[in-house]
Parts: sequence; C-alpha cells; structure tokens
Amino acid sequence: MRKTVLLSACVFIALASPVFAVKAKKDTDVPVRKGKKGKIVVVPETETTAKRAPRINQRLAGLHPQTQVKMKAALKDMDRIGVCPAITSAYRSTAQQHDIYRCAHRHRCRVQRGIFSARKPGTSLHEAGLAVDFADIAHGKKRHRQLTQDGRKIVKVMQKHGFKWRYGLKDPAHFELDPSAAGYKSEKAAITAAQIREAKQRLATRKAASVEPKQKARRRSA
Ligand SMILES: [Zn+2]
Repeated sequence: MRKTVLLSACVFIALASPVFAVKAKKDTDVPVRKGKKGKIVVVPETETTAKRAPRINQRLAGLHPQTQVKMKAALKDMDRIGVCPAITSAYRSTAQQHDIYRCAHRHRCRVQRGIFSARKPGTSLHEAGLAVDFADIAHGKKRHRQLTQDGRKIVKVMQKHGFKWRYGLKDPAHFELDPSAAGYKSEKAAITAAQIREAKQRLATRKAASVEPKQKARRRSA
C-alpha cells in the first residue's frame, strides 16, 4: 500500500518538475530517480501524462480544493529538495474515521498501521478534507520520538505552504490547514460541508452507474 502511494507521489512529482525532466534526459534515456531511502523509481517511458495524472488525483481526491492546490505546490517543493514523501492518509469519511479511531485504541492495530493517534469521529480535519498524513516523519518511541532527516524538511515545506503541524511529535505524521483558509467559520462547519459534498458525489456516482446499463440495454433493444 505504502509503496503504491510513494510511487504515485514520486510519479506526480516527476511529472510536475521540469528540472527533473531535463536531468533525466541528460543522465539516461529512462527517467530514473532515487526516491526515499535510495529506492529507485522508474517512470516507464510509455506512460503518458494523461495516464499518470489520475493516480495522484485519486490520492488527493476528496480533499478540499484549497488543500489540493497547496499540497501539489508543497510536493513540487519537496521534489526540488530531493524529498519524496508517502501520503498515508488524506480525506476520510466519518465511517473511515470511526475505523481509524477504533484502531488507534488497540495497540497492535495502531502499530501495524502506523497510527499515532486519532480524533473522535466527527471532529477530525481529515473529515473536512483539510488534513494529510505522511509516513516516516519521525522515529523512536513516544517520549524519545525524533524527526527523521526527511521529516524535518517536510515539516518546513508544509509550514511554508500554510499547513499547521498541529500536534508536533505527538502525532508527527499529521498536517492540516486552518478551516478559515478554506472559508469556514469552524472545524465543525468544514467537516459537515465536506461530508455532505462527499455523500452527494457518492449518490451521483451510484445513479450514473445504474443509469448506464439501462441505456446500453435500451440501445441494444432499439
Ligand atoms: Zn492526520
């Protein structure tokens, strides 16, 4: 899972960075770069821009448009300094927040999924599409937790783009935008708006999916 996320972020960054594109041409014909911890990320030459874009869009889907714009700018900046972060969580429905909240209260589940803490369902800015979590920001146990080398750089870049590192080392993975930056008066208002938006989208998708087969059947019988 993490690998896929890392790849899509890197792929997006590779796409978005003209600096990288020039470098890749000089070094080899295949766009290759060293990702996090020396992992080699190869971007297949045959893959077109149109094919790659949906992957990163999917990762950022559900986030508030303002968060998406700022995230893309932050990811570009990280690429410039050679950091390729893995996004572990972005928008969450309230049902997903329930699941994470339950997991956060069970030691084994928490460790397995790399969850530091989770707010009660209905109160997390992930549910407002205003928060993002990254992997490998910090290491060490609770009281001895420290930022990793990349973690320090990520915190700096995210803060530069207006994200708050709200809980510091208590929940180092977590970055969020203030609801007022997206035009909301309160966290609650931002969460409610996002959940309604997502429910409407889900309904529209379901309707479209049920209409399509009917239309096909009608066309066949006509
Ligand atoms: Zn978070």
